[in-house]
Amino acid sequence: MTTTESTDQRSGTTTVGHWIDGEHVTSTSGRTAPVYDPALGVVTKQVALADQAEIQRAIASAKAAFPAWADLSLTKRQQVLFAFREILNRDKAELAEIITSEHGKVVSDALGEIARGQEVVELATNIPSLMKGEFSDQVSTGIDVYSIRQPLGVVGIISPFNFPAMVPLWFLPIAIAAGNTVVLKPSEKDPSAAIWLARKFQEAGLPDGVFTVLNGDKESVDGLLTSPDVESISFVGSTPIAQYVYETGTKHGKRVQALGGAKNHMLVLPDADLDLVADNAINAGFGSAGERCMAISVVVAVEPVADELIAKITERAATLRIGDGRRGCDMGPLVTEQHRDKVASYIEVAEQDGAVIVVDGRTVRPDGDENGFWLGPTLIDRVPTTSRVYTEEIFGPVLSVVRVRSYEEGLELINSGAYGNGTAIFTNDGGAARRFQRDVQVGMIGINVPIPVPVAYYSFGGWKNSLFGDHKAYGADGVSFFTRQKAITSRWADPAERGGPSHGGINL
Ligand code: NAD
Repeated sequence: MTTTESTDQRSGTTTVGHWIDGEHVTSTSGRTAPVYDPALGVVTKQVALADQAEIQRAIASAKAAFPAWADLSLTKRQQVLFAFREILNRDKAELAEIITSEHGKVVSDALGEIARGQEVVELATNIPSLMKGEFSDQVSTGIDVYSIRQPLGVVGIISPFNFPAMVPLWFLPIAIAAGNTVVLKPSEKDPSAAIWLARKFQEAGLPDGVFTVLNGDKESVDGLLTSPDVESISFVGSTPIAQYVYETGTKHGKRVQALGGAKNHMLVLPDADLDLVADNAINAGFGSAGERCMAISVVVAVEPVADELIAKITERAATLRIGDGRRGCDMGPLVTEQHRDKVASYIEVAEQDGAVIVVDGRTVRPDGDENGFWLGPTLIDRVPTTSRVYTEEIFGPVLSVVRVRSYEEGLELINSGAYGNGTAIFTNDGGAARRFQRDVQVGMIGINVPIPVPVAYYSFGGWKNSLFGDHKAYGADGVSFFTRQKAITSRWADPAERGGPSHGGINL
């Protein structure tokens, strides 16, 4: 047991509580949810679901910590970020193990998400430069205009199950470095990574109350959305909840950025290197068992490439080792049994809708416990674009192939979708790629890169139903989201015009 958990001596049940005022707080709400080890298929602990008193206590603690933290010099705040970066880097194997044990993704994928989160920590160490204002000298005689950035106050972060460390780290470092205090509501499916982060921030010197973890469900989310003491909400999750969070949060006067679901297409032109495409389709379709908002879920093959490409993907899918993420496998289980069953049900839908199941993940033989939530890589050809397999986000290791006759047909298909998170084009024609980047209605585009997650100093976010609000995550948008600007118009009379005695050696 770590300090992130408490154990009931009689039942032996471990419960993940909250992190408030710099310590693990055992919940008294009486409500909990099970946390599974997906590779074993068993409940390993419970997570507390906060009640109203705990929600209010968490927000009050963050509110009380705000004035002193916001007032601390940029240098002192920066030093906490530098120290946290070192600790995260030192102890990342420990965090990866926690992620794998609750999410199921293989350890190398867990380390990958930590690395992407660490990038944002590194960006936030540069907060003195990022928060610099503007200055215009002598806009009128004796008058200067300048701007400064100030923190918002208490900010809320609500994160999904699929990146329990990276998604909080998309927001946390910049929010904290800018002088805000944070209440994070992690996914109840894998809550321990958030408490681990809080503990490590404390070790880095972050004052108590600056970072609070509130575990819970809809009640906690609603508590943050409606509290007059919470200034902003950064949400990542499914589209219906993102829309709800955006509408409810803005109705309550908050700044909201709500990132939603996705259905990402990979457009393959006939001149593409099909071995490269197949390698990338495997990584982008089945990495983290397809539970990534930037996963490729549809390969749009411009004929005549489909048959050859499908053969290459099939060949590679057969070499993947599916199993317990702690055993060096390529792909782990899905997060819960319920989610695994839902994803698998789309294979039946595909069969009913006349698609061709090329690789069927339901027959997988995993290197892991038979009770794990397994589903192998699945490849489905000739998916009708009217099928729910095509129109809905599946969020699992299911890769669909849609065959088109031309670039234009492929582009039109991608642009007609409800989501606009990521997309990729594979081609050796630079002109075609350039045209695609200009024509496609999607927020993040890869050219011969299947998962184009921008580096920390650009911003992450999609279009359409993949993002509600006008600020993306991290980068310049992140700094803008977590700060409020003031513009100051200032007049100081020149001493020569002011009259009276000269002073300070100025005698004009
Ligand atoms: P989810 O929407 O079920 O949950 C996200 C968060 O919302 C969790 O903290 C959860 O507790 C809370 N929540 C769930 N139901 C709620 C309700 N009715 N009212 C209020 N809050 C509620 O998402 P998930 O299953 O945890 O994550 C997977 C989804 O997240 C996928 O749709 C995926 O595409 C999306 N996602 C998007 C991005 C992106 O950057 N666009 C990144 C990662 C994940």
